[in-house]
Amino acid sequence: MADPLTITHPNMDAKWFDMAVHRAHLNGCRVIPTGVAGVLFVTSGSSNVTYRVTRTECCCEGHRRVGKCQHRALACAYADIYRKIERTADSGTAA
Ligand SMILES: [Zn+2]
Repeated sequence: MADPLTITHPNMDAKWFDMAVHRAHLNGCRVIPTGVAGVLFVTSGSSNVTYRVTRTECCCEGHRRVGKCQHRALACAYADIYRKIERTADSGTAA
């Protein structure tokens, strides 16, 4: 039996996290792998800027100001969803 998919999003409560992921999708933010474990790039969507993001840090101005942002929310969601898909694939069980 599959274990439940949980997403870890430090310093973002559930409501804020949901809103931030939704806003990131609306803005067209994209997640790009870096090849480095625990690090992703996330595009701003509205400009050509790309941010370096970990589960706890993002180099954008908003994150510097308030300690959370849509880029990090999106990265947390992607990281945990991808890991879940990988684990499901590895286990050889049907989806
Ligand atoms: Zn950010």
